[in-house]
Amino acid sequence: MSDEPDFSQNSQFLAAVDEAIGVLATVDSISVLTGAGISTDSGIPDFRGPNGVWTRNPEAEKRSTIQFYLSDPDVRKLAWQIRVESEMFSAAPNDGHHAITALDKAGKLHTLVTQNIDGLHVQSGTDPERVVEIHGTVHKWECVDCGGRGPMEEALVRVRAGEEDPPCAICGGIMKSATIMFGQSLVAADLFRAEQAAVQSGALLAVGTSLSVYPVAGMVPLALELGRPVIIVNAEPTPFDAAATVVIRGSATEALPRLVNGLLGGWQKAD
Ligand code: NAD
Ligand code: ZN
Repeated sequence: MSDEPDFSQNSQFLAAVDEAIGVLATVDSISVLTGAGISTDSGIPDFRGPNGVWTRNPEAEKRSTIQFYLSDPDVRKLAWQIRVESEMFSAAPNDGHHAITALDKAGKLHTLVTQNIDGLHVQSGTDPERVVEIHGTVHKWECVDCGGRGPMEEALVRVRAGEEDPPCAICGGIMKSATIMFGQSLVAADLFRAEQAAVQSGALLAVGTSLSVYPVAGMVPLALELGRPVIIVNAEPTPFDAAATVVIRGSATEALPRLVNGLLGGWQKAD
């Protein structure tokens, strides 16, 4: 948007990127934690930023809460309608996602833990083996009763054909997207991988996340306790700014290509 500050021209921003390059150049492997802010430039709004979905409409949080979803057919009908219209299915990865992919291709990425459910990291070419989608994915449906799963498009076709709240084709149960809603537990194996990512890598880079959703945000204090450098890239302040090694305040889409370019000495989008 035109009224947003141009971080690329800001000397503080550039100095912070340079400092981060210096820090990350000293380690062999980097773990990355991303949140909704890395995908806003792909046209997917975040939840808690100034234009966030929940900032504008606090009621929307209900649709992401399992108890409301299971008990209220109207919540489910609205959720399906929103899925059908969601920008997540047409969005494309941006230069922030591509920069992390370049880090991976260069052998520098330990693990990428994303809170995003949009699938854009894998779409940009980061090795799925190194990606932990800790809050699940919108690209699959799942049945809360039998655990059945399938491509989301299967369910969206039914909604477009007139089924407002399509039941599971296997058992007749309630279907949802394969995302972790509030009130649901994270997958233990994924959580373990997130912890290991903080413990085993040389540094942690947190991008586009308000660092307010636990236990995932806990990767940051864990890395700090172990004495690992922590770099935060975010448009707004986070609770860990004071403790972080370097804070890059600004756009992830501007910061990450510069950062990766400086680290790898030349950066190219992976096709
Ligand atoms: P959040 O909404 O709490 O915070 C996003 C942060 O990103 C904000 O602090 C904001 O200032 C910052 N930000 C926005 N645009 C930015 C940009 N271009 N560059 C740098 N920073 C930017 O998001 P969260 O911490 O990821 O947690 C919200 C939860 O919502 C997650 O668990 C996730 O599952 C879900 N979510 C996912 C998506 C997605 O998949 N794209 C979108 C919205 C919400
Ligand atoms: Zn079922």
